[in-house]
Formats: sequence, C-alpha cells, structure tokens
Amino acid sequence: MAAYPYVTHDYDVVVVGAGGAGLRATLGMAEQGLRTACVTKVFPTRSHTVAAQGGIAASLANMGPDNWKWHLYDTVKGSDWLGDTDAQEYLVRAAPAAVYELEHYGVPFSRTEEGKIYQRPFGGHTTEFGEGPPVQRTCAAADRTGHAILHTLYGRSLKEKAEFFIEYFALDLIITDGACTGVVCWKLDDGTIHVFNAKMVVLATGGYGRSYFSATSAHTCTGDGGGMVARAGLPLQDMEFVQFHPTGIYGSGCLITEGARGEGGYLTNSEGERFMERYAPTYKDLASRDVVSRCMTMEIREGRGVGEHKDHIFLNLMHLPPETLHERLPGISESARIFAGVDVTREPIPVLPTVHYNMGGIPTNYWGEVLNPTAADPDAIFPGLMAVGEAGCASVHGANRLGSNSLIDLVVFGRAAAIKAAEVIDRDAPVPSTNVASVEKALDRFDSLRNANGTISTADLRLEMQKTMQVDAAVFRTDKSLEEGVVKMEAIAAKMKDLKVTDRSLIWNSDLMETLELTNLMPNALATIVGAEARKESRGAHAHEDWPERDDANWRKHSLAWVEGDKVKLDYRPVHLDPLTSEADGGIELKKIAPKARVY
Ligand SMILES: Cc1cc2nc3c(=O)[nH]c(=O)nc-3n(C[C@H](O)[C@H](O)[C@H](O)COP(=O)(O)OP(=O)(O)OC[C@H]3O[C@@H](n4cnc5c(N)ncnc54)[C@H](O)[C@@H]3O)c2cc1C
Repeated sequence: MAAYPYVTHDYDVVVVGAGGAGLRATLGMAEQGLRTACVTKVFPTRSHTVAAQGGIAASLANMGPDNWKWHLYDTVKGSDWLGDTDAQEYLVRAAPAAVYELEHYGVPFSRTEEGKIYQRPFGGHTTEFGEGPPVQRTCAAADRTGHAILHTLYGRSLKEKAEFFIEYFALDLIITDGACTGVVCWKLDDGTIHVFNAKMVVLATGGYGRSYFSATSAHTCTGDGGGMVARAGLPLQDMEFVQFHPTGIYGSGCLITEGARGEGGYLTNSEGERFMERYAPTYKDLASRDVVSRCMTMEIREGRGVGEHKDHIFLNLMHLPPETLHERLPGISESARIFAGVDVTREPIPVLPTVHYNMGGIPTNYWGEVLNPTAADPDAIFPGLMAVGEAGCASVHGANRLGSNSLIDLVVFGRAAAIKAAEVIDRDAPVPSTNVASVEKALDRFDSLRNANGTISTADLRLEMQKTMQVDAAVFRTDKSLEEGVVKMEAIAAKMKDLKVTDRSLIWNSDLMETLELTNLMPNALATIVGAEARKESRGAHAHEDWPERDDANWRKHSLAWVEGDKVKLDYRPVHLDPLTSEADGGIELKKIAPKARVY
C-alpha cells in the first residue's frame, strides 16, 4: 500500500473544473449558500473556454425575428435526431435569460447601433423551422466571447466567496456504497495530496480532443472526468460522435471561428469554386459543421484540394470590409498571421477539418445528475455526482453540435446543476467522512504510475494513440478502418502496463501529470472507436461509408460504453423523444421535429 499522508477538506459541493461550465456551476452553488470548492488543474481563466471565439446562441431576436421553437428545431435537426428532446427544450428556453444574466454579470458583449447585444449568423441556425433565411442568433463579444465569459464568471465566483484550489489535479472519485462522496487530488506545486469529502461532486473537466493528433482544443483537454467515471465503473455515452470543425488552420490546427463564415467568409477549392453552393444550395457555407467538413474532405479526395499537395481548402475573407475584420474578427486576423503567415485582407487562409468537440461524455439528465443506466431503469441516477459542460452528455447535441450551442450549454446546465444541488443537498447533514479504502485505492494507482518502470514513454504511446484515432476514426469511416482501428487501439491500450515514467518527484512533475492524463485519454479514445465500429449507420458526425444512411429504426439510441483496461462493453439506452411541454400546453408541434432527411 502506498503511504502518502493527506490533508482533508469538507465541503457541501466540490466542482472539478473552472471552465465556463465549472465556473457557472461554482457561482450558482455559492449563490445558493452551499459551501463550495472549485478544484482546477490550470488557472481558471486558462481553461479551454477562454479560446471560444464565435459566440453563444440564444433566441434574443435582437437582429430580426427569432424564437425558442426555431432554436429547438435547429438543435434537434443539428443533433440528427439523437439528442434528448426534453434537455434540448430546457436548453433553448433557458438560453435568453442565461445570456441576459451574463450581461448583468458584466460580460462585455459587442453591441448593435441601438445598444443591444450583437448577434451573428452561425451554421445550422435558421428561421421558420429551416424554411427561412439564416438567423442572427449567436451573441458575440467580437471573436473573443469565451474569454469575456470566463473572466466575468471567475470574478463573480470570487465575489460569492467560492473557494478555489488552483493547480490541483483531481486523480479519482471517492465512491462509498454506490454513491460519490468526494475526490482525491494532487497539488502540483508542492506535491501534497488532498482529499475533498463532499455531498456532491460536479465534474466539469471539458472534452478529450487531445486523443486525436490534430485538434483545436488545448493540450489540457484530456477527458479526465470521463477517465475518473470509467474507473468508477460508470458508462460513457455517445462517444463515437466527434465533431470536426471545418476551419482549423492547416498545419497548426488552430481554430478560425465559424463566425468568419457568419460574417460573409466562404470556402473555395483549387478551381476557385465556391463548392458549398453545390452541396448545400440554401445555406451554403453556413450548413452545419459535419456537412461542411465532409464536403471539404470530398473536394480534397476528388483532387480539388489547394496547395502543393492538394490537401487543404481556402477560406476567403479578402472581400470583407476592413472595418468588419477589425471590429468583429480581430482575433482570427491575428491567428491567421501568426499560424499561417497570412494577411487576411489580401490572401485566403489555408484550412482543414480538425477535431473540435466531443458530443459524447458522461450521461446526465438535464439537471446535470449523472446516470447509471440499468435495463430496468435507463434513467437511474448515480447519487452524489453531477457532470456539466463538454465533459457531460445531457444530451442536447446528439450526433452533432451546432456552433455556439456549447457556450450556452455550459451556462444553462451549470446553472441547472446548482438549482438541483440546492434541492437535493441536506445542508444540516454532516459531510461524508473520509472513505479510507477508496482513497487508498486512488493513491495506489497514483503510486504505481509514479514508479512505472516499463519500456515505453508516455509521449510515444500518446502519439501512437493520437495517430491511430486520426486515421481510423476520421471524418469518413469504413468497416475496415474501424475494425482495424479497434484492434490497434486495444493493443495500444494494453501497452499502458508497460509505461515508463522517468521523473519520480512530486513537485511540478509534468511527466507524471501527462501520464495521468494519458490514463484518462485512453478510455475515452477506446470508447470512441469501439462505439463507432458498432454503429452501422451514418448520423451527424459519424459518417460511415459502408452504411451511408441514417437508420432510425435500429440506431436512434444512445450508446453506452463501460471501459475496463483495454476492453469496452457496449449497451444502449433510449433517446428521450418527448419535449418538456406538450403541444396542447404551447410546446412545439411534434410534427415539426419528426425525423426527416437532413439537408441544408
Ligand atoms: C478553439 C475553440 C473555440 C470554440 N468556440 C466556441 C464558440 O464560439 N461557441 C461555442 O458555443 N463553443 C465553442 N467551442 C466549444 C466550447 O468552447 C467548449 O466546448 C467549452 O468551452 C468547454 O467548456 P468546459 O467548461 O466544459 O471545459 P473547459 O473550458 O475545457 O474547462 C475544463 C476545466 O477542467 C479542469 N480540469 C480538467 N481535468 C482536471 C483534473 N484532472 N483536475 C482538476 N481540474 C481539471 C481544467 O483545469 C479546466 O478548468 C470552442 C472550442 C474550441 C476548442
């Protein structure tokens, strides 16, 4: 048994993660008077949310007609009919109030002439249930919306006296009699171990983009929440759905926001053709992301890519007025200069579809409560545990997320989790006492990784995983690529036993931290490729060449993946088809959201 002394802390709530979701949950919990700690491995304002550029969706109707039913329709269609309709309705109806709340907290949104919040068009957001022109629904603070939101929420959380534990790495959940009762953490700057006992743990650890070779997400997006949940014996949901953003900068993967196309930018191939007009006659460059990414890949495959190797596409902004570039897109003008050496006023930006977002994650209901589905009760709750933000799967994005629907998901469900926690937490009850056995199990795992003395370095094994995922679980998938990918990934996961960590210290040990992160990336990656191999249809981001049609009769269901070591067990649970509000009570007409072909 590993002998690590530890410090204990008792809280009503411990939130793991200080991105948009973690901070909104922390703020809400603290506002409700719950004693709240927020634990984060990076400084709060360095969380990946800071990089969100384009904006946050809400039907404010500041720049033309809009309403929550149109937003619901677009989200249902965007999800390719795999989202839970109740959660989707909750999201779009809560969205306007959530944005006004951010405004009142102090988020410096861009403004219209009349001083209202500025809104831009984004892919897949329409009017008239997809019959009308694109809608301006995406509220923006220039092209630095995530930055503005994150800084504002951090300031507000401090005001509400939430306590922050910064540069603490959460290792594992503490599980006591079928409930979560805390989390074990390693403090990175002095090497001490901290046990947080809590009545509720909220995982807001973000996505796992870094399981792929080329991703727009930060290097810290390693799916730590999903890893912890898998080790606790709980399933992950819909992991095969990985979003490729059409416009990562060729080479670096750095993002150019969809807002660039929202402001009038367009894509061209080697013949200078605006090819999206051919594939999506109505919405063109503003079709949804999975559609645009596939069309770009098809152009490249058919020999119409640009550049020396004909392996990428151009994004054109040269025709936009310099004022628009300066006022609405200053950040991406800078990114294009730094990462592609391009002056956007004169030259097109070289771009390529790049991994951007994980639709799948830890299954929850629309209050953020984590599910432990059984055959008898597919919606059973696992007590003491919540998940919000990109780490969670509520599921509003289903098989494909619409641009600007993630930032709104963070704040709406972060807020919902706080409302629910205030309801279910008994403030007078004592905080659960330390479950020594569960803590020791976590520390044994930590110790064995710290002393890992095999033959393969973490960096080498991570690269093998990333390259395999990039090639075999790509924009287009085939039975062959997926079957081979599963075999390769199982072999790669089996090599985890043979890892070698060279730095044995406990202070600022990045070798050990990256190893811990790899133990989290791996179950996420495995669940992704195994889930993809099993799903014999095409839906949203899962484009299967051998099964090109969506198959609602057999596959309109959520995948569940239990990961143990290098093996994944799959099962399924039903999609929630009913909206929260019935038609008779003023809800959306069911026929409006009935499945149909998804064309833009
Ligand atoms: C470049 C880019 C641009 C985007 N633009 C937009 C946009 O314009 N609109 C939109 O809607 N969406 C956008 N998205 C998507 C959206 O930004 C993300 O989905 C969202 O920010 C994720 O927020 P989060 O709070 O879930 O996680 P993150 O912001 O990733 O934060 C994760 C937090 O968890 C903590 N953490 C993780 N693991 C541990 C651990 N083991 N121990 C302790 N702490 C841990 C981290 O320290 C961090 O604080 C964009 C994404 C990217 C990558």
